[in-house]
This record gives sequence, structure tokens and C-alpha cells, in this order.
Amino acid sequence: MKLVLFDIDGTILLTDGAGKRAIHRALEEVFGGTGPEDHRFDGKTDPQIVRELMRIVGHDDEHIDARMPLLLERYVTYLGEELHARPSGITVMPGIHELLDALRERSDVVLGLLTGNLAEGARAKLRAAGIDPEQFRVGAYGSDHELRGELPAVAQRRARDDLGFDIEGRDVVVIGDTPADLQCGRAIGARAIGVATGHFTVEELEEHEAAAVFADLSATMDVVRVIVS
Ligand SMILES: [Mg+2]
Repeated sequence: MKLVLFDIDGTILLTDGAGKRAIHRALEEVFGGTGPEDHRFDGKTDPQIVRELMRIVGHDDEHIDARMPLLLERYVTYLGEELHARPSGITVMPGIHELLDALRERSDVVLGLLTGNLAEGARAKLRAAGIDPEQFRVGAYGSDHELRGELPAVAQRRARDDLGFDIEGRDVVVIGDTPADLQCGRAIGARAIGVATGHFTVEELEEHEAAAVFADLSATMDVVRVIVS
């Protein structure tokens, strides 16, 4: 049995800045400012993004931790509003529907998510893109841990506790668009597949020991072959 863990932003879909606008609105409201406009979000968890931005503007961790729950609550509300306001801004990446269809039909694959999004934010983005979040039977989210490197073990634990599948690290496959996605599964011995539909090129992703790197995920059978190999 293989556990396939998909990243969301830049891998399954793009929201054309809805997530960033929502974080900025919540930061403005709860901390009184957003930090630098050009700070990179990709590959990071939502709480990590908040902490990095607020450290840059001079807040200490105690102050950040005290306001984090309210910040994340406001973020989820604003994310829903932003996704609803501009549904045309949401793009599903090439080949995603076909790949998910193909994997769902297999009895040797369990579909899951491994994303820096909060669980609620992940579901909102997927629904807005017309992708049923329920097909992902296992999830590890930014709301589970601030560090992405901790999330593969969370997913493994959930597969065991919720589904009764004991899945070895080498049978976990992480699919994502950043070096952070490709590196996060190392501790449990997971394999990774890179996809250059985010900000990183095929060449940049190839430097991180992925099992394979694709320009996009439209070659369904090639991707499936790597997953089940
Ligand atoms: Mg991503």
C-alpha cells in the first residue's frame, strides 16, 4: 500500500493570491501590520508564515503565540471571503483531475494531503476548485505542526489510527512544488515527486533528490508508475 500525500498550493491548484490577501487582512487586524509584501510563502505552513512575518516587524514569540489562535481564526474567515469573491481566480493545475481519478481507482493507493494550510483552509481551497476534499483519506496540515518536516509522521500516524493501515516510510510519496516538499519526508524515509507548477523550475527541484520531477502532472500514467514503483 502506498500513501500519496499531495501539497495543495502550486501543486493541486493556485488561488491567485486569495490566501495571501486573507493572511494580510488577518495580520492587519490582529497585529496592526502585514510585514514585507515580498516575503515568500511557498513551502511554508500558515503559522510559520505568520511567525516569520511578525518577527520581521519586531514582535517577539510570546506576543505572536498569544495572538496566533485569533489570527488563524480570522484568516480562515477571510480566506472563505476571498475565495468566494473571485472564483475565477482559482486554477486547477494540469492533469490533477485525471491523476486523482486514476489513483482513486487503485486498491494499492491511499490518497492524502500534506500541506502548510490549516485543515479548514485546505478544505476551503479544494472545494473552491471543485475538488472533493473527502477523497483525501489522510491529512497532515499546518494546523497540526508549524514545521513541514513533522507532517509526514503525522500523516503516517493518522493512516494507522484512522484507517488501520500501517504504512512504512518508504511507501509514503510526497508530491509538491517546492524543495521543502521534497525534503520534508526524509526523516521517515519517504520518497518525493517534484512538480514545477509553482515558483521552482524542474532544474531547481531536481537538486533535491526527488524520485522524479515533472513539469506538470499531466502525464498521468508516468506519475502513477513512479508512485507505485
Ligand atoms: Mg506548494
